[in-house]
Amino acid sequence: MSMSGARESGRRRLVVIGGDAAGMSAASQARRLKDPGELEIVAFERGHFTSYSACGIPYWVGGEVSGRDRLIARTPEEHRARGIDLRLRTEVTGIDVAGGRVRARDVDSGDESWTPYDQLVIATGARPLRPDLPGVDAPGVHGVQTLDDGEALLATLARTRGRRAVVVGAGYIGVEMAEALIRRGYEVTVVNRAEEPMSTLDPDMGRLVREAMEGMGITMVNGAEVTALPTGDDGRVRAVATRDAEFPADVVVLGIGVRPQTSLAAAAGLPLGGHGGLLTDRAMRVRGHENIWAGGDCVEVLDLVTGQERHIPLGTHANKHGQVIGTNVGGGYATFPGVVGTAVSKVCDLEIARTGLREKDARRAGLRFVTATIESTSRAGYYPGASPMTVKMLAEHRTGRLLGVQIVGREGAGKRVDIAAVALTAGMTAEQMTALDLGYAPPFSPVWDPVLVAARKATAKVREAGA
Ligand SMILES: Cc1cc2nc3c(=O)[nH]c(=O)nc-3n(C[C@H](O)[C@H](O)[C@H](O)COP(=O)(O)OP(=O)(O)OC[C@H]3O[C@@H](n4cnc5c(N)ncnc54)[C@H](O)[C@@H]3O)c2cc1C
Repeated sequence: MSMSGARESGRRRLVVIGGDAAGMSAASQARRLKDPGELEIVAFERGHFTSYSACGIPYWVGGEVSGRDRLIARTPEEHRARGIDLRLRTEVTGIDVAGGRVRARDVDSGDESWTPYDQLVIATGARPLRPDLPGVDAPGVHGVQTLDDGEALLATLARTRGRRAVVVGAGYIGVEMAEALIRRGYEVTVVNRAEEPMSTLDPDMGRLVREAMEGMGITMVNGAEVTALPTGDDGRVRAVATRDAEFPADVVVLGIGVRPQTSLAAAAGLPLGGHGGLLTDRAMRVRGHENIWAGGDCVEVLDLVTGQERHIPLGTHANKHGQVIGTNVGGGYATFPGVVGTAVSKVCDLEIARTGLREKDARRAGLRFVTATIESTSRAGYYPGASPMTVKMLAEHRTGRLLGVQIVGREGAGKRVDIAAVALTAGMTAEQMTALDLGYAPPFSPVWDPVLVAARKATAKVREAGA
């Protein structure tokens, strides 16, 4: 077999499981550092695509992005041309850690074979939660995890004459999909178990999101547990049922969260954390395994604010993990220090951002804190286009250390959270933030940027509370 020939010639082999953000970033970076004569790279991907942006699916479904191919950063052919032996439609079904090999199955033919590795990267991503409810597999019910899912949803939208859509779940994927469906002219209902949408925010900030979504004509049903997805005589979904009501639906989109996809790793005896994700060191090496690496949605990350491990499935982390892994496998040195929990999303013209801890996270971590919520504007109040923005800041009691920021507003609100993300990473206090030298001109912000206004108020509250 050609592969064993490669190993006999002294060439090392890197095997990658999962051909998207983390896996292919790792493979590409390792290839940049090691030429094929030194390192053979074999990547297994069970789906049809590589290096695709799931993050873009809502904008493709909504029609802002013209087609599926626009979401593919690098095709299988491009990877192969760079010397990566990519096996599409090939699922890894077992990892033999002691033997240093993986078992892979051709999805179409069912043929299985073993491939030895010198270095292994696990980048299997996350699996979407699918509630075990009557009707959940009926035609018309869609997830939005992969490009295949996006295509299936678009096919349903093209076929369906009715215009009623129900989104189950109001996390960022749920609200982005609500926007996509509004854009396509649907009447949208969002059914959500939590008290307010966007439970990555505190409920008082989530309320602002709900009010704005209601203002966009979206029906928001909160505090509601879905009990069934009733079907019609034709077998297709016709409604979403909760304990108290039934919401008619021609199409249903599920966005209720994901869990790390780690069944392979668990079966191989690799270490998993309390959230079910693989545990790694800072070099992204699986703890206790010199030649096994993991990154992306299948791992847990260190929260730099609390010092605890969390599962935060985001593409921004997956790409960085892949880069770190590829550098280390390629003979360099890189680490991923951890995250502060920054995320940004939008629904129509409403921008939603957060970083650091919510009130309940801070309480859970045993931290005492003050909160400061301020209203400001995106530009100088007199400048055309100024729009309102709410900023909430948490700072630690006594020390004044910044703990978290949440922002809800229109244009220019979302990416302002990056100021706070940098301040959190640097371990700044709210008071230190008030002196930050941020850019100012009337078209960009008021003379005191909204984040700095929040920092001033938080500083005053820390002083008052300490007095
Ligand atoms: C609708 C949507 C919107 C999003 N928006 C954002 C956003 O705005 N910002 C952001 O930061 N993140 C966003 N994300 C999250 C982001 O897409 C993920 O965090 C990122 O794709 C994770 O990359 P990954 O490589 O870890 O996993 P994945 O992208 O899930 O890739 C894992 C790959 O492994 C393959 N695989 C799994 N098991 C096997 C196996 N046994 N054998 C072979 N192949 C296997 C899978 O087929 C898959 O292709 C969004 C996600 C979705 C679904």
